Amino acid sequence: MNLVVGAGISGCTIARELAERLGEEVLVIDKRDHIGGNCYDYYDDAGILVPKYGPHFFHTNDSRVWEYVQGFSSWRPYEHRVLSLVDGRLVPVPVNPTTVNRLFGTDIRTEDQMRTWLGENTEPITHPQNSEQAALARVGRVLYEKMFRNYTKKQWEMEPAELAPEVMNRIPVRTTREDRYFTDTYQAMPTRGYTALFQTMLDHPLISLELNRDYRQLASRPSSSPARNPSRIFFTGRIDRYFHDRNIGDLQYRSLEFLHETLDTPRLQEAATINYPSPEVPWTRITEPKLATGQESPKTTIIKEFPRSQGEPYYPVFSPGNLQLFEQYRSLAASEQKKGVFFVGRLAEYKYFNMDQAFANALALTDRIR
Ligand code: FAD
Ligand code: UDP
Repeated sequence: MNLVVGAGISGCTIARELAERLGEEVLVIDKRDHIGGNCYDYYDDAGILVPKYGPHFFHTNDSRVWEYVQGFSSWRPYEHRVLSLVDGRLVPVPVNPTTVNRLFGTDIRTEDQMRTWLGENTEPITHPQNSEQAALARVGRVLYEKMFRNYTKKQWEMEPAELAPEVMNRIPVRTTREDRYFTDTYQAMPTRGYTALFQTMLDHPLISLELNRDYRQLASRPSSSPARNPSRIFFTGRIDRYFHDRNIGDLQYRSLEFLHETLDTPRLQEAATINYPSPEVPWTRITEPKLATGQESPKTTIIKEFPRSQGEPYYPVFSPGNLQLFEQYRSLAASEQKKGVFFVGRLAEYKYFNMDQAFANALALTDRIR
């Protein structure tokens, strides 16, 4: 029997693949009282489908992943758009000609004009060493100060100059009026929600599930119990918690607190997500899930995101110290793998995986095992 620790994308994909393609038995455990990991969603008191751990928009260029997820849900096309409230105006994110025109009263109409504007405003930094340099190279000083610096300080409680360039490199800059947040070929939301998708994935005669079950609790089971002697373990929780007894230190994460508010109006926002870069506002963004799910209701629920240093581990902090510490965990993981323990997923690999990358990563692992 295989043991899968964690019922998020990584755990559910591995469980399904082991059961369906290898015909092997799998026990999936999760310490939470629900499946789906951080993609978990539910109907709130007003009957609105809302995410518990932050809004999730599916997008991918990976046709294997896209075909794979079709097997577990029908999908509703949805292209995510984000606006940012800057100097009292709503402007598109990522930066595009409309963003610049609205903020500076320019009249940029062509790609060439936008390239010229960027050429005149950005700084010639070819190999950014941190997120400030990455932003200066991409959008220039004025936009950096208005849209990115304070948002990033709120989100990370660090100056962008202290953060690795990867954080800001996630944000593209557009020379056309393209205002979709993602440009991937496939962009959609599961019609019945993410939790229903994971239920379908785990619905297999060879898969059993135990919720409210922490991996550490298994040690108290009788030594003859199959859960104590699995043929393989797939661990999708925090790698630093797995190796806690080695005392080499905790990996750092940023967390978020989500405040849900239900309003007596069918729709509030102009876009599903509005960003708030202002240092005067304590939240970073507000998302209105109905705009993405397409649900009809006379009410709407909005979710405000407040960055926190404590709480659920959401974002790995890519500082040199954390990355060095992770390297130590990675070598411990390599020796553990010889005993049949595999570390997979965003917490076990200390990576910022988008959903499609988490699916692809888990599929690649089961390919190797096959
Ligand atoms: P997780 O979802 O974290 O699952 C790990 C599971 O393991 C959890 O259920 C946990 O309870 C369980 N577990 C941990 N330790 C133990 C233990 N000791 N015993 C038992 N169980 C344990 N991606 C996108 O593509 N689009 C988006 O719009 C998007 N939005 C996001 C917004 C936020 C705020 C965040 C944080 C992430 C977002 N993502 C998005 C990324 C997406 O959430 C991840 O790709 C995905 O959740 C990764 O799945 P996973 O299974 O690796 O990890
Ligand atoms: N960011 C910013 N201003 C914005 C949007 C993003 O400064 O309006 C920065 C911020 O540091 C953020 C990073 O870009 O953490 C990545 O943004 P993304 O929207 O991808 O963040 P996520 O959805 O992962 O929270």
